[in-house]
Amino acid sequence: MINTLPAVIAFDADDTLWPNEPYFRDAEKEIIKLLERYYRGDNLLEHLYQQEIKNLHIFGYGAKGFSLSMIESVIELSEGMVNGAEIQKIIDLGKSIMTYPINLIEGVHETLEELKDYPLMLITKGDLFDQESKIARSGLGDYFQAVEIVSEKNDETYLRLLQRYNIKPENFWMIGNSLKSDVLPIDRIGGTGVHIPFESTWQHETVSEDHAAEHNYHELQSIRELPMLIEKHIA
Ligand SMILES: [Mg+2]
Repeated sequence: MINTLPAVIAFDADDTLWPNEPYFRDAEKEIIKLLERYYRGDNLLEHLYQQEIKNLHIFGYGAKGFSLSMIESVIELSEGMVNGAEIQKIIDLGKSIMTYPINLIEGVHETLEELKDYPLMLITKGDLFDQESKIARSGLGDYFQAVEIVSEKNDETYLRLLQRYNIKPENFWMIGNSLKSDVLPIDRIGGTGVHIPFESTWQHETVSEDHAAEHNYHELQSIRELPMLIEKHIA
């Protein structure tokens, strides 16, 4: 039934509908403070990041994997000297990332309200429980006809979803803050990607300008510009 409509509009969640990245970066700052007792070397942030990337294929994306990676890093960098209270502090930081109050990004509510006659989807990657909890806390769940929580957002994931929902690529719009995960794959599979940058982007999600320039996509400064863009293109 979705197939007969002029456009299916899918949204990323974290840092597209609500801020998420800043909570991880704030937690990292706390962890660095905690580590300063034990570790005098440079590039602490880079070390934390590398540990996270190394573990991505085991833990996947999200706050739980992040917390475990941070604990592992702290044990390693403190040469096993970190104590139980400090490990508890890292666990608490992880919990705070999974329970923060969801404050919608400016214009999100109004935009979804304006677009609610279209079939709207939410496509987010990460931990199932964590993402479901954020969607519930956001109060936006009812806007979406379908919510997909996936482990990776690449060409194959999107093709699989389009097939499952019987959506033609040319009718598919995806809106998100990550060029790598939300926008460039959509161009490659024949849909329309819309990039709305957020104030900060996780290092793992960045792409080179040259790579981005090989793709076609729209770039907006605010989600408020989206209804007009869609109207212009499908009218
Ligand atoms: Mg995002």
